[in-house]
Parts: sequence; C-alpha cells; structure tokens
Amino acid sequence: MHVLEQAGYEVYIVGGAVRDFLCGRPIHDYDLTTSASPAEMQELFHAYQTNTQGLKHGTLGVILQGRKTEITTYRQDNSYTDHRHPGNVTFTRSVQEDCARRDFTINAMVYHPDTGIRDFFGGMQDLDSRIIRTVGDPVQRFEEDALRIMRAIRFSSELGFTIEPATDAAIFRKKEDLRYIAAERLQEELIRILKAPYGTEVIFRYLPVLQVFLPEIASVPEALRTLPAVPEMKMAALLSAVPESSVHGILTRMKFSREFCIHTEEMIQSLDIPLKNRKDLKHMLNRMRTPFGDLLTFKSAFDSSIQKSRMLSIYGDIQNMGDCYRLKDLKINGEDMIRIGFRNQEIGKALQTILEQVIEGKLPNEKTSLTAYAEDLFQSADTENTYNSF
Ligand code: ATP
Ligand code: MG
Repeated sequence: MHVLEQAGYEVYIVGGAVRDFLCGRPIHDYDLTTSASPAEMQELFHAYQTNTQGLKHGTLGVILQGRKTEITTYRQDNSYTDHRHPGNVTFTRSVQEDCARRDFTINAMVYHPDTGIRDFFGGMQDLDSRIIRTVGDPVQRFEEDALRIMRAIRFSSELGFTIEPATDAAIFRKKEDLRYIAAERLQEELIRILKAPYGTEVIFRYLPVLQVFLPEIASVPEALRTLPAVPEMKMAALLSAVPESSVHGILTRMKFSREFCIHTEEMIQSLDIPLKNRKDLKHMLNRMRTPFGDLLTFKSAFDSSIQKSRMLSIYGDIQNMGDCYRLKDLKINGEDMIRIGFRNQEIGKALQTILEQVIEGKLPNEKTSLTAYAEDLFQSADTENTYNSF
C-alpha cells in the first residue's frame, strides 16, 4: 500500500479480508484494489517477485515475505457473454465503480488503515444483520456470472448468514445457468459447502440448486445432520442412495481428486459390509484404504446397531496383537508365489484369497501351511485352465 501511495495512487484492502476482519474471523489473505493501471503497477513493483498471469484482467500478484498479495486495478466488468466471464473489462479510477462490480454487499467494502471502511452498498448493515445480498439486481448479477449462485450459498454455509429474499428468489430462478459453469469451479464451491459449519442446512434448503449439476441426488439423507463436516463423508452420504455403479462416474464428472473419489466410494461401499465382529473388521481393513475411524463414523450414522466403542476397542486390540489383515502381514509373499508357479495378476489374486482364509481363521498365518495351501490353489487353478483349454 505504501509503494502505491508514495507514487500518488489510491489503494484499499478489499473483499474477503475486510469482511472477515469485521466479522472477527481469521483473515487468510489480503486482496488490494488500486487506481494504478496494470502497467503502472508493474512499473512500481518491478523490483519485487511478481506473478503477472492475471495482468490482462488487472491483477498483479506481489510476493512479500513469502506471501502473495493480489493487487487489482479498479475495474468495471461489462458485457458478460458466457455466463461466467466479462466479455470486456474496463479499468477505471473510481473505487466506487470497482465495488459495484463485486458480487455481494459484504464483499464490496474497502478499508484503509488511515480512513477506515468505505461502504457504498450497505455491506456493514448486511454484515450486522447477517445477510447475503447481491450488489445490484440479483437476477442480472447471476445472469452475468452464474458462479455467483454457488458463491452465495457457499458464503451462507460458511458464515451462517441468510440469503436476502430477492437474492434467494433469483438463485432459484437462475439456477439452471449453473450448466455454463466448469465442473472444477462447482466442485470447489461444493467442497467448501460440505466443510462449512452451516453446510448441512444449506444443502437441505438449496438441494434444487445442487441438483442442476447433481441430478442423481433425489433427496438429502437425515444422516447428513449427524456426520462431521468432512467433505468425503458428506458427499458419500449425499450419494448413498444412488446406484453404486453410477457413483464413480458422478465423482469423476465433478473432477474430484483421486483420493477424494476413493474415500467417498469406500464409505458408500462400507454400508453394505457387515461390521459386527473382529473378522468383519479385519475384512474391512483389508479391503479399504480410508481410515477406519472415518468408515466407522460414517457407517454408524446410517446404522444405529453398530457398536461404535466396541468396534474401536477391537480395532485397538487388532493393532496391539498384530493380527494379520493386510497382504504384507502374510507369512508368504509374491516371490514365494512365483516359485510355486503363479504369474502376473494371478499372484495378487491368490494372495488375496489366502489372506481372506487367514482372516476367516480357516488357515494359520504360518509359512508351511500357507505354502501348502498356495500349492493346492495353484494345482486346482492349473487343472481348471487345462480343462478350459480343451
Ligand atoms: P474467500 O477468499 O473466503 O473465498 P473472498 O471474498 O476473498 O472470500 P475471493 O474469491 O477471494 O473471495 O474474491 C475476492 C473478492 O473478489 C470478493 O470478495 C469479491 O469482492 C470479488 N469477487 C470474487 N469472485 C467474484 C465474482 N464471481 N463476481 C463478482 N465479484 C467477485
Ligand atoms: Mg479471498
């Protein structure tokens, strides 16, 4: 701010930092807004480490003490063409015009350490009344950029604010425009809703909005209310009534990360796996990568017969006693299997069969018995193959 002001430009802190500061929430990064043009900013910060990727939209990233601060030239956004991006941005020297292009009144205030808050659109009052309201006509603002629909409900879920009636009506009226928004953007907002303290209430109220891009979710399960705000768990709950064969396709369509997909799918699968005793628990540990505590929490939310504390103590006991429940716990390995004659994928498959037998208690985890069993397995598979090739 000092650099810009020394050169005669205006500069303010804007957006989330101002909002979060006024709410007493932690500030995670600072965005600045300035009257300096992109070229003028670049000139002023030539000696700093910068990121110029956003410069044509007026944003210069400046790295100060290892922290990136984004500085954006006062901007007016015009003629939106694709329901997401302004077709045309005009730089301006008016901070009020810059605030007018911002999405919600609570995000459209600026702050200067010497002069305090400037609030052109009633943001302070909305913050006090805990209200989310667009700057200007909500229908028009959502038509310009449909992502704002998701941002509105996401801010509501994070802050616990109510969406003002006209803004709320416009959300329902314009929700179909979310079809224009890239899956990555929708997914980012959705994850934030799933993590947010008021996420569940928002999901119940705004399900029709989410159904625009997740039509497979017919209703919200009550279990969502008791689950912790772990996005994979909440997502699994939302998809728990969808046919299991479609779940993976939905998650990849929404561009969730590989890890996110695995955990979510495993939680859904866990609903169909019994969990009553030590054997069940070991089968589950063998089959799933998701931390057991999460699977247990998830399953318990859907099935009140699960004895959570008993299962946790059995889990502890399995660890302490060193029970065998993973391939690497087996006293036989891939090399042994090759020596017996197994090849390629057959090795893993056979080891898995052996492990299931050990977990079932039908086979002791001890080298000679396992080797004998593996040899039998190989013989019978071999006979089968010979038979098949006739
Ligand atoms: P958070 O960082 O917690 O998500 P934020 O308000 O800082 O909240 P950003 O996405 O970082 O949100 O955007 C910074 C500011 O830019 C916002 O406060 C708002 O003023 C403006 N803004 C961001 N996205 C839009 C949008 N789609 N339409 C209009 N203004 C926007
Ligand atoms: Mg921000």
